[in-house]
Amino acid sequence: MALILDGREVSKRIREEIRKEVSLYVSKGLRAPTLAVVLVGDDPASVVYVNNKRKASQSVGIRSLLYHLPKDTPQEKLLSLIDELNRNEEVDGILVQLPLPEHIDQKKVILRISPEKDVDGFHPENMGRLVAQMEDGFIPCTPLGIDLLLKHYRIDPKGKDVTIVGAGFIVGRPLSLLMLWRNATVSVCHIHTKDIKKFTLGADILISATGVPKLIKADMVKEGAVVIDVGISRLGDKIVGDVDFEEVKKKAGAITPVPGGVGPMTVSALLLNTLKAYKKRFSHLISTTKP
Ligand code: NAD
Repeated sequence: MALILDGREVSKRIREEIRKEVSLYVSKGLRAPTLAVVLVGDDPASVVYVNNKRKASQSVGIRSLLYHLPKDTPQEKLLSLIDELNRNEEVDGILVQLPLPEHIDQKKVILRISPEKDVDGFHPENMGRLVAQMEDGFIPCTPLGIDLLLKHYRIDPKGKDVTIVGAGFIVGRPLSLLMLWRNATVSVCHIHTKDIKKFTLGADILISATGVPKLIKADMVKEGAVVIDVGISRLGDKIVGDVDFEEVKKKAGAITPVPGGVGPMTVSALLLNTLKAYKKRFSHLISTTKP
């Protein structure tokens, strides 16, 4: 039976470390790290994600400012809010919850966020740093969370065959680059891949990020493989991942549950990115106050 990779437990530890570090800076007289969260409209899943992120921020002493705009907000208005947040010295990180309503060009919005405050890591400058393996950029939160989860369980991707199913801009693509940083041999599959099983069966570490429930079945998984399930889908009143968990856990060496696996790690990575943005802003003061 597979080892369960417990994202909640690992997150608890990471958040405790962040909380301690933040409280040290605040005790030295610095203001608290601050994350501005922008939500356009009332998409129920987005509302839940935003609430989770805000609660998690507050639990570690990161101040969270919510800008909740109506669904029909004109694009120009959203862009000028971002300009204002970019200029605001009190704000370290800016997160615009995706997806945005259809009349808004998501790419324009991402481009408008200052790369220094882009804690989601979606700005091309940060994506470029990921390609160039420059550690000072922001790594998108889900790939970073997965990397931290693997690290916690001492699962080293170096020299391993890593297959990623799903090549989305938020997870699959940036994760493939991060796994290359870790010296894995990476295969990326997507909807046009002819024979996904050919790639999944060879994987030492199999990561699925498609949003297709039960896409990954036991006969697609190598005995003893590490299986990371990023997918989040709603089936009736249940949240499920991409992996047929009950069957695959009998064959895998380690597996993430959904919920309680990658989800909490993504939020923890956001907190880490916000702390990183804050520390860069106050680097002239923090170098002397660091533990
Ligand atoms: P996306 O739509 O950008 O990308 C989906 C990818 O999956 C695409 O590359 C597509 O080609 C591929 N795909 C779709 N159906 C497929 C199939 N049948 N076979 C093979 N490939 C297929 O989506 P995304 O933003 O990358 O999100 C993917 C999933 O991850 C969603 O369920 C999303 O909710 C979830 N997600 C979870 C977290 C988390 O914290 N756990 C964070 C972000 C996204």
